Amino acid sequence: MPEKPYDLLIRGGTVVDGTGSPGVRADVAVDGDRIAAIGDLAGEAAAREIDAAGRIVAPGFIDVHAHDDAAVLTTPMDFKLMQGVTTDIVGNCGAGIAPHDPERGAVPAISMVLGDIGEARWRSFGEYMAEVERAKPAVNVACLVPHGVVRYAAIGMDMRAPSAGELDEMREHVREGMAAGAAGLSTGLIYPPGRFAETEEIIECAKEAAAEGGVYVSHIRDEGERLMEAVEEAVRIGDEAGLPAQISHHKANGEKSWGRTQDSISYIEERRAAGQDVTFDVYPYTAGSTVLSAFIAQPEGADPDNVLLASVPGRPELEGKTLREAAEMLDLPAEDATSAILRHSPGAVAIFFTMDEADVQRVVSHEQCMIGSDGIPTPGGKPHPRLYGTFPRVLQKYVREERLLSLEEGVRKMTSLPARRFKLGKRGELREGWAADIVVFDADTIADVATYEEPRQYPAGIDYVIVNGTVAAEDGHQAEHHAGTLVRRENG
Ligand SMILES: [Zn+2]
Repeated sequence: MPEKPYDLLIRGGTVVDGTGSPGVRADVAVDGDRIAAIGDLAGEAAAREIDAAGRIVAPGFIDVHAHDDAAVLTTPMDFKLMQGVTTDIVGNCGAGIAPHDPERGAVPAISMVLGDIGEARWRSFGEYMAEVERAKPAVNVACLVPHGVVRYAAIGMDMRAPSAGELDEMREHVREGMAAGAAGLSTGLIYPPGRFAETEEIIECAKEAAAEGGVYVSHIRDEGERLMEAVEEAVRIGDEAGLPAQISHHKANGEKSWGRTQDSISYIEERRAAGQDVTFDVYPYTAGSTVLSAFIAQPEGADPDNVLLASVPGRPELEGKTLREAAEMLDLPAEDATSAILRHSPGAVAIFFTMDEADVQRVVSHEQCMIGSDGIPTPGGKPHPRLYGTFPRVLQKYVREERLLSLEEGVRKMTSLPARRFKLGKRGELREGWAADIVVFDADTIADVATYEEPRQYPAGIDYVIVNGTVAAEDGHQAEHHAGTLVRRENG
């Protein structure tokens, strides 16, 4: 009896396994949702074969910093899948769509730009995770419990400390999410209501994540002139709550602060040498993007020529314009334009050109730095191109063009490093018996094609994206919309 053929055989590629080890020429066989064999499989048969000669075969990329909480339920997720992402980590920046109380409605500010949640069928965080599992998104999804939403559930938008009973309620939400398999707790300490929290409140919530083996992930309180104090706060929370800490989208915002990542990284290295587990992630661009309302509190981006309107609900004619251009169109002085736009479109999203390339390069090249898109999947407008191009951009710009990273190291930052950090189980490496999340690309041509003017463009140079053994993207189009699954934290 001949053995049953494999479901899929990827022949003749260079396997870059995600660990940072040098690439080797090998075939990769897939059965079901697992990698069945890696090696010389010349004599083997398969139901489907892919010729990967001249191509790189790597684990699918893991986006550690996604805001796709609603998008994974309601969109094809093409903007992530087509760039080689097979796993998305949602619930970042303390923002999200669970827990959900229909009486209170959605959380104002940052959470409101995550997309329409329709008739939310979930209440608790665990119920949201079950909904993601039922929906079978196009990519795998792991979740962080968002502190801002938890706080909103307990005390709404009140600018005060929670009472003992309210803090218990918050801790219970975190405990429930962690028990359901969340990877950790996130905070967004520039956004209301998360920014109303004192450090001690966050430590108490983080203890619940610590008890379950989770990680603490933070959009820190200040990424400009008080960057160091903000990093120190995140590190203190990790230390006192007893869990690993991760600084989200690490950067130095505003010209006065350029270069400060030297100090922040030195400090993180000191803490690591002292035995504390601190890491960070980055998106590979010198512009950030968030709700326009956050800009009022962020004077670093105050130059109206450096602010680009990405999404302005109800006023599409302003999208793609700088704040100065928008002010002229509205016949207003530049300093009045932000509040005028927000009065009409409180959910407006903007792009801020506030960073220095030297800081981006310093952060991206650090061995403890992972890659996260921070993409905001607004249905309309001209989103920051990171939504479509983050991962190819790292391989194009920092691996091929700048030679800041080896190909193997670039891939490691997007695969095994985050998979271990967030305890995603047998993902993030190409190994027998592990999940068949695979991307096949051309290292010589992979490129981020999205621009600030025309952001909605798929990258070049990616041949196949395979999610749990299913070919989900090929030849530049999405072939499958439901190959993903919910990924629960796997301790140990
Ligand atoms: Zn953030």
